[in-house]
Amino acid sequence: MLLEVKNLDISYGDKLTVANANLELDKGEILSIVGESGSGKTTIIRAIMGCLPGAGRVSAGSIIFDGKDVLKNTPQQWRDMSGKEMSMIFQDSGNMINPIRRIGVQFIDYIQTHSPATSKEEAYEMATKMLANVHLPNPDNIMNSYPFELSGGMRQRVGIAMAMTFSPKILLADEPTSALDVTTQAQIIRQIVDVRNEYHAAVIIVTHNLGVASYMSNKIMVMKGGKVAESGTREEVIGNPQHEYTKQLLRAVPVIGGKRYYE
Ligand code: ADP
Ligand code: MG
Repeated sequence: MLLEVKNLDISYGDKLTVANANLELDKGEILSIVGESGSGKTTIIRAIMGCLPGAGRVSAGSIIFDGKDVLKNTPQQWRDMSGKEMSMIFQDSGNMINPIRRIGVQFIDYIQTHSPATSKEEAYEMATKMLANVHLPNPDNIMNSYPFELSGGMRQRVGIAMAMTFSPKILLADEPTSALDVTTQAQIIRQIVDVRNEYHAAVIIVTHNLGVASYMSNKIMVMKGGKVAESGTREEVIGNPQHEYTKQLLRAVPVIGGKRYYE
């Protein structure tokens, strides 16, 4: 098992925010976390990445990643893992990447930060190869662009390209398509599935959309109010939902051509 989260409690200060979360994920599997805003989805994936904000801390339970108890990591060990073993992408990678620096400068910087022995020329080569790999046309042009000159979908591809540069074992994606129109959403989802196939990485994707979750995932976890309402294989959760909240989410998935989007 690549990732095992057991009986995890996460608190901000004294406030217990996520209670008793459990999940298991193997190489090549995709887990979707769905649930209403404020239910603790971002908090869980940030705990897995070792980057809880502010007064956030894991107050009970364990996170075992690739056989290691990462809750025992030192700050240096977290830095060594980040980008190499685990990577994260966000709702709008334009927010992560600096708006006033060209993509190329930032991509090269990212590579050299994670791999100081890499020369600028080698980093440029690596970056353009990664950009081409996520189907961005004319990587040299992209390297020369500012983030605002790209569409949201292109920026998200840049984010995926950067995140996968060092072939991490797991990609954590926090609502990576929420800022995009429906057509672009579908393209980015397919790109993430491609990344899983190519790198045989595990993926955790946070999404509001149970249709998306069903389309791409092997496993689905439904969160409500800081608790796991329901979790299981895609077939279990979609085919035989147990929790009223899951049923409600399923009813909200649009019907296209007489079929629900996830069928
Ligand atoms: P989601 O991603 O499902 O919308 P979050 O994990 O962001 O939910 O938030 C879960 C709960 O934790 C919310 O009640 C939110 O207000 C609280 N929370 C999130 N970040 C912080 C923080 N930095 N400090 C204190 N509370 C926070
Ligand atoms: Mg969130």
